[in-house]
Amino acid sequence: MVLKLIRRLSTGTAPYFYLAISLLVLAWLLTTATEDSSALNDLFLVIFGVGLLCLVLLAGILIRSLYRLFRDFRHNEPGSRLTTRLVSLFVMLILGATTIVYGFSLHFLHRGINSWFDVNVEQALTDSLELSRAAFGIRMRTLLRQTRMMAGVLSEIPDENLGHNLRELIKLSGALEVSIWTIDGQLVMSSVESPMIMVPERPSESILRQLQTQEDYIGMDPGEKDELQLRAAVLIPTATPLREQRLLHVMFPVNRNLSILGKTVQDAYTDYREISYLRKPLITIFSLTLSLIVFLTILASLWFAVWISRRIVQPLQSLAEGTQAVASGNYNMKLDVASHDEIGFLVRSFNQMTERLTQARNASQRSHRLLEQQTSYLTTVLGSLSTGVVTIDNENYLRTANVASNKILGVNLQQKLESPLSELAQLNDNLQVFCQLIEELSKRNSGWQQQVDLTQAKGRQTLMLHGTPLPAGSGWVIVFDDITALLQAQRHAAWGEVARRLAHEIKNPLTPIQLSAERLQHKYQPLVPEDQVPALSKLTNTIIHQVEAMKIMVDEFSEYARSPALQLQTHSIGELIREVLAMYQSNPNHQFVVLNSPSDIRAKIDSNRFRQVLHNLLKNAIEASEEAGQEVDIVISYHAVEQDHRRWLEIIVTDQGPGFPSDMADKLFEPYTTTKLKGTGLGLAIVRKIIEEHGGDVWAENLQPEGASIIIRLPLEESES
Ligand code: ADP
Repeated sequence: MVLKLIRRLSTGTAPYFYLAISLLVLAWLLTTATEDSSALNDLFLVIFGVGLLCLVLLAGILIRSLYRLFRDFRHNEPGSRLTTRLVSLFVMLILGATTIVYGFSLHFLHRGINSWFDVNVEQALTDSLELSRAAFGIRMRTLLRQTRMMAGVLSEIPDENLGHNLRELIKLSGALEVSIWTIDGQLVMSSVESPMIMVPERPSESILRQLQTQEDYIGMDPGEKDELQLRAAVLIPTATPLREQRLLHVMFPVNRNLSILGKTVQDAYTDYREISYLRKPLITIFSLTLSLIVFLTILASLWFAVWISRRIVQPLQSLAEGTQAVASGNYNMKLDVASHDEIGFLVRSFNQMTERLTQARNASQRSHRLLEQQTSYLTTVLGSLSTGVVTIDNENYLRTANVASNKILGVNLQQKLESPLSELAQLNDNLQVFCQLIEELSKRNSGWQQQVDLTQAKGRQTLMLHGTPLPAGSGWVIVFDDITALLQAQRHAAWGEVARRLAHEIKNPLTPIQLSAERLQHKYQPLVPEDQVPALSKLTNTIIHQVEAMKIMVDEFSEYARSPALQLQTHSIGELIREVLAMYQSNPNHQFVVLNSPSDIRAKIDSNRFRQVLHNLLKNAIEASEEAGQEVDIVISYHAVEQDHRRWLEIIVTDQGPGFPSDMADKLFEPYTTTKLKGTGLGLAIVRKIIEEHGGDVWAENLQPEGASIIIRLPLEESES
């Protein structure tokens, strides 16, 4: 409870409020006390108490400020070191200056108070008091004598004349008031000089008692307006013993100047005596009050030193924090401009700087975003191209490569970005050829164009490369296309034309030649001598057989050249294969194996042309197996595969023959490619033509250690399975 109260009182601005009130009270007390030294004596304890309260409050506030400073210093808060240094400097200055002032003040205080009680002053005061008393003594004695004479005169005057005589006496003596009283204080007669006063002043009891002892009275009384009056009272001698004892009471005025002077001297003396008794306690009180005020001043100055140091350092501290924020990338920092001095100028400059930085950052972010957009746009465009695009820098390091370039070259170039071409060349033989060519050509100053042949598993691959230098000689952009298919298509077109002409031009004369040869044999066999007949029949048979062979060749050529519209129908592949194989079952040398697909695959194909394909492939497989001179199996397998998000029917015809000659790999499917004596080289060319007409693909692979495979792929529609 108490702790809570203390905490409440000591937090926030509450201590300052209490301190301000206490200081005001102290100031008021001190002002009151210094006006009157005796008041200081009375108020000293209160002053000291309030002063102590101020001291405690100030000390509390100071300790709180110092503790905060110490905590900041320990936590290495920005600005705390500078504040501490400033505070130390101020403390030294304050302590130095205040100690000197305090020492001197204490010294002067002692000397000042002692000088008040100097011997000369005391003597002068005593003497003047004596002087005034002597002056008054003479006057009093004269007046007493005069009063006694007046009493003597009055003692013989009968009562009825008293009034008149009293008036006369006032006039003669210059008294203010003359009255006759009985000894027990009853007024007998009076006369007053001033018409304002009706009733004379009654002599006091002490005067009456004094007179009863036969002793006359003379004394000084304070009159109106600080004027002194002399009061004299004497017994009136009694002429007749019957008359009661009376007294004469006279009030005389004292000269105004004399009375003031006398009073002043008296007052000064009284004051002086009073103060001289207080001399020692006064010195102590003044010293203590001075010490209290000095302590208060020191504490207040110390607190002020901490406060002002904090205020001076505050903008620097915010500047330090702002700089830290900017250093860590926060450019939105805005500081408050508190002053119009150099620090304020610094803060304003800092704000301008952060504003500019923010603008610059926004601009750079905008351009960065724009760049990113452009880059992603470019990447999308390049990515959707079927043409390969790569860029290299002027030191032949790979900078960018699009997806198509990966496909064409069969390597993931994205993983090789920032690598030199020489490193890329080590990946495979094809890349070596590709990279060496680029390195060679990029030494030129202007753009170039070059065709290059690479060897792939499926055969030869022809690429067409275009090199364009980048601006400022910063490298090259190389665009390349796989033109293998294009070249093949061109060759096919050419061969198609040849085959068509060949079939047309050659087939027509063949039948007349064959018929003529047969007629020659019939007509001239009986006419020629007996020994010449075998020669004649041999010659004519040769013509007939060769023409027959030529007819077969021309038929094949015309088959190759023929491109009738496809009669597409959905067929069961398994059934078609088995149907074709049935024709070969009579061949005892070969075993035909069909590896069924788990499900029956149905595809939309032209069945006649598909049979033609199977015949050509089986014929080649049988011939290859015979070449090997073994009784071997010929395997036909078919199944559905998925590639490039499409479904395909894959048919593989495998034999165990010697395999395809390696030097023919790239032109195996071209017309007139044969290793056989009687071969036309059109079998595989026709296969490819039919498969391509169906939108499929065909290629050959050699098996290890021996054997060959022809792989056909035909597109399957989604519904087909
Ligand atoms: P032809 O059979 O008239 O020679 P093809 O176009 O059918 O014409 O075949 C071309 C050549 O391909 C053949 O001469 C042969 O050298 C080779 N070939 C085709 N099939 C096979 C196979 N299964 N095994 C080995 N070589 C083959």
